[in-house]
Amino acid sequence: MDSIFIEGLRIYAYHGVYEEEKKEGQLFLVSARLFGDLQEAGKTDDLTKSTHYGEVSELIEELFTKKSYDLIETVAEKCASGILKKFPLVREVELTVFKPEAPISVPFENVSVTVTRKWHTAYIAYGSNMGDKEKYIDEALVKLSNHDEIKEIKDSKRYVTKPYGGVVQDDFLNGMVRIKTLLTPQELLELLHELEKEANRERTIHWGPRTLDLDIIFYDDLVLETDELTIPHVDMHNRDFVLKPLNDLTHFYVHPVLKRSVMELLADLENK
Ligand code: ADP
Ligand code: MG
Repeated sequence: MDSIFIEGLRIYAYHGVYEEEKKEGQLFLVSARLFGDLQEAGKTDDLTKSTHYGEVSELIEELFTKKSYDLIETVAEKCASGILKKFPLVREVELTVFKPEAPISVPFENVSVTVTRKWHTAYIAYGSNMGDKEKYIDEALVKLSNHDEIKEIKDSKRYVTKPYGGVVQDDFLNGMVRIKTLLTPQELLELLHELEKEANRERTIHWGPRTLDLDIIFYDDLVLETDELTIPHVDMHNRDFVLKPLNDLTHFYVHPVLKRSVMELLADLENK
């Protein structure tokens, strides 16, 4: 992928664990590689089709000096996410903070921290089968799209589905959104739980009626299995109310474990 490289911005700031560092300050150097497509800018000679490295440098300086932190990890994190939020053509950023005057008792050349951050693509299934279903769903989607670490939210069609899992209850309204996000899978799950809570969801009967259910289906091509979170969603390929709206948003996305595209998974299920 194309990139713009800003090398060795010199910034005086007050980061460090020690009192001295916060009082006296020291020189830091920052480098940033901004990944994105530069071909259109190159062909048109038009700056608006690229990212202004002067403005990025000013943002780094501003975020770098606004507050003092204990860790250069934190400064690097703030700068990387700040760049991604402000400059839409930057898809990924690799940012290094050097601290050449760090308090290390052994003679040394330099010390640095590098972080790589990018906009992730996640698919989130939604469903409701209690009360004003449309309203619960719409409110949650508005909150998602207003979140500052989420952008480019795209909604599927909505499907009325019979309940799953054998509990007698009202029909479901199901659908799917694709988002771009800077949140980690765990942070995204926590956000979804908050939104479910705000929709007055009570976790009572498993597979029972709910005002709002939000599940992470895919997160890039990540495969993850922890106590709280399984990605891809463990049962997605058996649920037509997941695959149909997912197929509205993408046909060719390949399930990273089953190695079948969404279109194929849907056909497999319909032919069962
Ligand atoms: P379900 O979605 O299966 O109907 P719940 O919404 O009550 O049931 O979810 C139960 C738990 O499933 C959640 O607390 C969460 O920790 C866990 N979980 C595991 N993987 C996922 C995922 N991909 N998306 C959402 N929740 C998940
Ligand atoms: Mg759920």
